[in-house]
Amino acid sequence: MKLVIATKNRGKAVEIRSLLGLAVQKNVEVATLVEMPSVTEPRETGKTFAENARIKALHYAQALKVLCVADDSGLSVETLGGMPGVFSARFAGQGATDEQNIALLLQELKDKPRPWKASFVCVAMAALPGRVVAQSTAKVEGEILPAPRGTGGFGYDPVFLVSSMGKTMSELSIEDKNRISHRGVAMRTLITEMKNTGVLLA
Ligand code: IMP
Repeated sequence: MKLVIATKNRGKAVEIRSLLGLAVQKNVEVATLVEMPSVTEPRETGKTFAENARIKALHYAQALKVLCVADDSGLSVETLGGMPGVFSARFAGQGATDEQNIALLLQELKDKPRPWKASFVCVAMAALPGRVVAQSTAKVEGEILPAPRGTGGFGYDPVFLVSSMGKTMSELSIEDKNRISHRGVAMRTLITEMKNTGVLLA
């Protein structure tokens, strides 16, 4: 059996592979889109994380004819009315780097009173060709710091202080990040649901 992690984002692929590796049975071959750069991408036209996760899971399941797990995730900053939200990856423009997105975020926040409360949100979705077979949502609370700290992770991790840990996401090991993160919690719930419904062997 084959399962494709439907992301070309290397940071996400590493985290999801590590999460699935522990949980799925040995006869499931796990691949990611990082190894399949020629597969066409769908347009993420949804207004919510759930809509975009659904678009991606169904698109890749149909294109590759296998079980696909997709996530749509992002940063929601309370001080900015929920922005960047579904625009997190392209906050500073299409193709923006993580550094450019962080620079714009700190620019937008600099004159606002602290703490700059925020959360990371993840919707995980699994699909077979033509139908969604499982979905789950999770969130982790924190605050944005005015300067980056740490070297791990990706995206906004260096400026996201996890309230419950007193560390930025970038200061956590991949195991600790996966234990508490929006993506870790959403993926574990998704795997449980796939096992409960027989999509994966328990
Ligand atoms: P997506 O690929 O459309 O879901 O975009 C998600 C974007 O949200 C990423 O490119 C990051 O900018 C941000 N993001 C989502 N999850 C994380 C995370 O765990 N750490 C840091 N940034 C994240």
